[in-house]
Amino acid sequence: MVDTVRHADLLLPGLGVEVAEVALGGTEAGLALRSPAGSAACPGCGRRSTRVHCYYQRCLADRPVAGRQVQLDLRARRLVCGNGSCGRRTFAEQIPDPRRRHACRTNVLIAQLTDTALFPGGRAGATLCGRMAVTTCKDTLLRLLRALPVPLRESVPYLGVDEFAVRRGRTYATILVDTSTHRPIDVLTDRTAHTFAAWLTELSEVRIVCGDRAGSLLDGARAGAPQARQVADAWHLLHNLAEAVERVVGRHRGVDWTTEGHAELKNVPQPA
Ligand SMILES: [Zn+2]
Repeated sequence: MVDTVRHADLLLPGLGVEVAEVALGGTEAGLALRSPAGSAACPGCGRRSTRVHCYYQRCLADRPVAGRQVQLDLRARRLVCGNGSCGRRTFAEQIPDPRRRHACRTNVLIAQLTDTALFPGGRAGATLCGRMAVTTCKDTLLRLLRALPVPLRESVPYLGVDEFAVRRGRTYATILVDTSTHRPIDVLTDRTAHTFAAWLTELSEVRIVCGDRAGSLLDGARAGAPQARQVADAWHLLHNLAEAVERVVGRHRGVDWTTEGHAELKNVPQPA
């Protein structure tokens, strides 16, 4: 048994409006929307009113449908409050949807764009959106990304740390990773021991600092988290091993291994 649904319930779930008209273009679809409610409650005193003071129009971009960009044209009412003792003379009826007042996109479209910014990123995300009939640009995606709330810092008993080049040979920063979840948790603007130590002093629960056991980050870990044990991560272990093997192989490059049982040394540099 299939229930009959209204267009608005299918296209705009939870919005609480009616679709008055649908206009289809080659690449666009326009939906004229109106509020179905006969009366609305004044936010000042709670009294309901049906007296229309004026109408106002809101335009919102929504998710594409069948490869068409969707534009919502919402006709909403400003009503007169009939309560003489109320401080509000008129009020705008609230469409039952928690979207921002002056937004030009619906919440679901903003959520979709934010996900796009989080995964493919700004420029690639904008290209992907173009293929999906969503008009946007990399700057908009990056702005949505920056508007996301910073997650609260949770307990990090196992901390991974490493430096990376912002501009190779010139500017370096430090990335900090929760090795339990393999998620980056912060980025420091340089790779100095002082900055790292100051960051660590806020985290008394760090038990293990995992990274390169050399350089300024080691000093920062000692100063900022003296209780923590420092271990080398797998990448640095393999990297150090590869460097050691390379040194040994280079040192014995002149060995003639063809003489059975008697490797003949030729020009082997002796260790100092
Ligand atoms: Zn009122």
